[in-house]
Amino acid sequence: MEGGRRFGRLESDSWADIGKVRGARVLVAGVGALGNETVKDLALLGFRHIVVADPGVVSEPDLGRCLFFRERDVGRKKAEVVAARVKEMCPAAAFTPDTDTIQKAEGWNYDVVLGSMGSVHGRIYANSRSKMFRVPYVDAVVDGFRGRLQVVLPDGPCLECGMSRSKESPPAPDARKPADATTVAVLAGMQAREALKIACRRFDLCVKGVIYYDGISGRVEVLGMGIDRACPNHVPLKHSRRWRRRSAPCPGQRYSWPNLPRA
Ligand SMILES: [Zn+2]
Repeated sequence: MEGGRRFGRLESDSWADIGKVRGARVLVAGVGALGNETVKDLALLGFRHIVVADPGVVSEPDLGRCLFFRERDVGRKKAEVVAARVKEMCPAAAFTPDTDTIQKAEGWNYDVVLGSMGSVHGRIYANSRSKMFRVPYVDAVVDGFRGRLQVVLPDGPCLECGMSRSKESPPAPDARKPADATTVAVLAGMQAREALKIACRRFDLCVKGVIYYDGISGRVEVLGMGIDRACPNHVPLKHSRRWRRRSAPCPGQRYSWPNLPRA
């Protein structure tokens, strides 16, 4: 049983609505170092319906940077370990592991999607699907001591709006430096905070533009971004080649959400 005073601090924010937070359906795509921290923050904030998705398995280097992994977990699926561990924090909640890639996720019946993936292709895919289904998406990535975060709302600019339209390939994920644990903690906190605003339907409070954080200088910069009309996610659907690829029937809902009260 979760006592009434457990979320007292959250309720002191006049805009926060713990009922909406508890009922919000969240997908966290990628549970490496950043995803571990973000899931922990979501659980502490009161989120109780989280699908934890990651196709990877726990390796030894993960033990030095991931909150929920233990030595005995090496070789196990990351998604299953994180879902089990966070369930220990909140036994009454629904934390569901998904061990497929984001490209195989179906339904997209979420209130918010959080991307904490190392894969550039995975992030672009999650961004594109979120725009298509008008699900708010919060993208975060850490490269060494630097972090980047962007909130993608249904009617706003998206991840691809800030990308070059040239034929150049995006940078390879393994070009990134290992994530610094303190930078991860900062970015995860920002990501969970944006999820909280979205769950409370306070899109007006969400970060506009792109946040760049430098853990060495401690500097945070927010760079503005507008909708790029050449971005394939904003081209009117009937004119979009991508739409023709997308227009296959949408698969049914994959997850059967427990019937907990929604606000
Ligand atoms: Zn765009």
